[in-house]
Amino acid sequence: MKIRLGLDIGGTTVHGIAVTASEPHDLVSQATHPTRQGADGVVGGALDMVAALRSDLPPDAEIISIGLGVPGVVHGGAVTHAVNLGLDGEPLDLAAAVSAGAGGTPTTVENDVKAATLGGWQWLREQGTDIDDLALLNVGTGIAAGLLLDGRLRHGSRGMAGEIGHLVHDPTGPLCACGRRGCLELYASGSGVRRQWAGTAAELFEAADSGDADAARIRDELTSGIAQAISLLAYSVDVSCVLVTGGVVTATPALRDAILEQLRRDENTSLGRLAGIADRVRWLPAGHPAGALGAALLGAGDEGARPWKL
Ligand SMILES: [Zn+2]
Repeated sequence: MKIRLGLDIGGTTVHGIAVTASEPHDLVSQATHPTRQGADGVVGGALDMVAALRSDLPPDAEIISIGLGVPGVVHGGAVTHAVNLGLDGEPLDLAAAVSAGAGGTPTTVENDVKAATLGGWQWLREQGTDIDDLALLNVGTGIAAGLLLDGRLRHGSRGMAGEIGHLVHDPTGPLCACGRRGCLELYASGSGVRRQWAGTAAELFEAADSGDADAARIRDELTSGIAQAISLLAYSVDVSCVLVTGGVVTATPALRDAILEQLRRDENTSLGRLAGIADRVRWLPAGHPAGALGAALLGAGDEGARPWKL
């Protein structure tokens, strides 16, 4: 049995899965470990996860590829900027280090949201939607997108394609950690909600509905920020689907309804009707391991075993 491993290395946990190498990529085993920081910690943590997944596999299993998704900028195969992993200095050739520690198994590293885009694409394919253009919008701690365009994952000239979280949403807004004021992710993300509101996003919507003016303002900025990000992706690259993922969206049906309502209001114009953006939106189900699955699929792309290219 040929197996691909996919590791989604987040700021707090590493989620690893083992799937069969060919479609339908059945899940064979999975595990979750706490993340270790720094270059040695990230490499060691990845190798521990590989060992844990391997120990759960049947005796005839052969691991043919390892894929790693990391929350940072990946350029030319090296991780150059991943603050949440304690990597913000020398570029780290994570793929080479993990491959060397895993007996030479071919290993690919990718930005986590770009990896999740492949996982989301695979989910759409399983739902009967077979497309070669997709934007995945991840509304997590921050907000960022991954782009699959004409069957090719878009990296960009500096590995930053889809990094839209630090576009300025309100120039008079609060100072962001990046040095600018009023960045989109200060409003339209999980951390943006936590910064301004003590409860969950669902509780925010309830409070807004019952007349709390602060809650209504935070709700409206959250909704319009995400709707704006969806419109930005749809208008700039005209993808047939914007797949939205991330805890704050999947856990809050009222937020999804509000986003769609806002996008439908845009359809009151002839350009808006032509664009039909609301109809392009899909929601990835809560708990879908798109990041780890997409990481596992990275190896298949390298081998030309998939319709898309890296
Ligand atoms: Zn910023």
